[in-house]
Amino acid sequence: MELLTKQPTMKLPEQWFTGDAWADVIYRGEGPSRARANAVRFAPGARTAWHSHGLGQALYIVEGIALIQSRGGEILEARPGDTVWTPAGEEHWHGAAPDHFMTHIALWETDEVAWLEHVTDAEYGGPRTGSRR
Ligand code: MN
Repeated sequence: MELLTKQPTMKLPEQWFTGDAWADVIYRGEGPSRARANAVRFAPGARTAWHSHGLGQALYIVEGIALIQSRGGEILEARPGDTVWTPAGEEHWHGAAPDHFMTHIALWETDEVAWLEHVTDAEYGGPRTGSRR
């Protein structure tokens, strides 16, 4: 057994994020494990750039309202307790709604991420599905 003491919170880079987003590492498996878990906190309006993951990614919403969109789809609105799975290679973005902070736990394997262009304000403000309010 090993106690993994908390590492400093990381500011996520402007190159790949719009607005303020911060990450805490929860767990990072040593090879041959490729397990990854981060808690990520987004300020209102903050979001990732478009990207895809080599082996997919699960996002567990902890707090706030999450907006998540796959290329060509509507924006999915997810709330605390929801998990959103994005399959390997599927281009997507995730972030906070414009008027709420949002925290999710991101679970994925391997650091193979293909980063693409930023999400424009027009894309971010597009039609939503899954709204429960
Ligand atoms: Mn992702």
